[in-house]
Amino acid sequence: LEHPISDDFSFYTLYGHLSKDSISNLEIGQEFAAGQKIAEIGAAPENGNWPPHLHFQILLDLLGKEGDFPGVAFPHEIEIWKSLCPDPKLIVPDLQEIPIPIKTIDQVGLLAKRKEVLGKSLSISYQKPLTIVRGYGAYLYADDGRRYLDCVNNVAHVGHEHSKVVAAGQYQMGLLNTNTRYLHPKVVEYAEALKATFPPELCVVHFVNSGSEANELALRMVEAIRGSREMIAIEVGYHGNTGRTIDVSSYKFDGKGGRGAPTHTQVLPMPDTFRGPHRDPKTAGQLYANYVDQAISKIEKSGTKVGGFIGESILSCGGQIVLPDGYLAAVYEKVRAVGGLCIADEVQVGFGRVGAHFWGFELQEIVPDIVTLGKPIGNGHPMGAVICTQEVADAFANGMEFFSTFGGNPVSSTIGKTVLEIIETEQLQQNALKVGQQLKEGLIALKEKHPVIGDVRGHGLFLGFELVRDLETRQPLPEVASYIANRMRTYGILLSTDGPQHNVIKIKPPMCFSSQNVDFLLNYLEKVCQEDFVKHWGNLPQLFY
Ligand code: PMP
Repeated sequence: LEHPISDDFSFYTLYGHLSKDSISNLEIGQEFAAGQKIAEIGAAPENGNWPPHLHFQILLDLLGKEGDFPGVAFPHEIEIWKSLCPDPKLIVPDLQEIPIPIKTIDQVGLLAKRKEVLGKSLSISYQKPLTIVRGYGAYLYADDGRRYLDCVNNVAHVGHEHSKVVAAGQYQMGLLNTNTRYLHPKVVEYAEALKATFPPELCVVHFVNSGSEANELALRMVEAIRGSREMIAIEVGYHGNTGRTIDVSSYKFDGKGGRGAPTHTQVLPMPDTFRGPHRDPKTAGQLYANYVDQAISKIEKSGTKVGGFIGESILSCGGQIVLPDGYLAAVYEKVRAVGGLCIADEVQVGFGRVGAHFWGFELQEIVPDIVTLGKPIGNGHPMGAVICTQEVADAFANGMEFFSTFGGNPVSSTIGKTVLEIIETEQLQQNALKVGQQLKEGLIALKEKHPVIGDVRGHGLFLGFELVRDLETRQPLPEVASYIANRMRTYGILLSTDGPQHNVIKIKPPMCFSSQNVDFLLNYLEKVCQEDFVKHWGNLPQLFY
């Protein structure tokens, strides 16, 4: 509404969340007397399901805008907006107080305390850390109220704080939480639902509490059955933070603070068709798998036998490396030929994320002996699981009890089952396929325009792109990757970097990521790719963030 005060001054009031019906007959230029009803407040369904309420705002200047006006602002712009949109209390004096809903946490103090009280080997994202206090769908909210599009978190699989997961957990927590030493229908129902997502050979479930624990148990199974600890793993692979899992995680033992591969681990080169020695997609699978022969002969020469092989279905810490066609089939064949067992680590990529399939290993058209699950399984509730064949399960059950206090408890089982149901009812696998394709095509289009993007890869909503000086040298540009991630954060988009050269940007958002989210992400990526720092391959001082 325009409020003419004098011949040359008007102010305006803005009314949001009105019922559409009540304003359908209003006309531009229509006059209202003081106290006259102008409209009605809209019901929840026509207001994005928000409880009915009025957004009331005073405007001293329309800023040349017509029909729309900013109704929210970034916290750092608040003083400017207050000068344009004064406190409504001026007009509605009965209002008690309009609090500015910003109560920021003292970040410097918090960081200092965290450093004091928590282990020093914890890392923190971004040059200027974020204090995140809420989550919803594909978004995270910082303490200052700013919303960030989360393109990183594949744990909040069905969306941050999905109301059905929260309600299921709350309900079961209020009812009972015990362990697998009592009979409870939930754990059996959940195991059955989980089993139904696998090929029939994978039919026995063991529940644990994390991805690390799942891999730890899988490795124990291999040793119990094979009588050998000798494992074959992939370069830059990561499988967890426990003793046995670190022993098969080249990402750790070949990285900072690591002491190289233990004698009982053989490391295969990363089957990387962009940067590695074998780049022809037709032959790369077999050529990379051939390194298994050397690993096996090394193990056998030392007088022991092969325990098994462990590998991620898409290499995550390795920089979103998609395994070349036929790779796992050839690796498994060689490992099984000497009696070894094959573990597929699905902690990152499982539960429909790859779009075309529910499990990442299905991209390779193989069936592992053991599959390990974690991260997305409980949408943030700490859970893990090991699924194996009947033969493996029977051979592992040698008399020693397997017990995990929390693994398979009724609360976790209820949550896990709810997550599976949501993936199905909200068609999140189909969404990963569709939206992932849109995103991948957008990234490929960006690569055509910006040669600094050397490669775009991945499946579904598990994508990555690699930053290089040019396609001839493929010189990795880790500073550019870090710059892009930090710049995108200033636009309210969270991305992370990885890969042995730290020059890969990873994209693995919650599976409710929408087509609009893709457009938003691509729009800002394009903007950042046009910035001087990126155009000059990182050979400029960093002026931002
Ligand atoms: N395997 C893979 C492939 C992982 O990425 C991770 C975690 N990043 C783990 C296992 C270990 O999972 P957690 O941290 O839940 O123990």
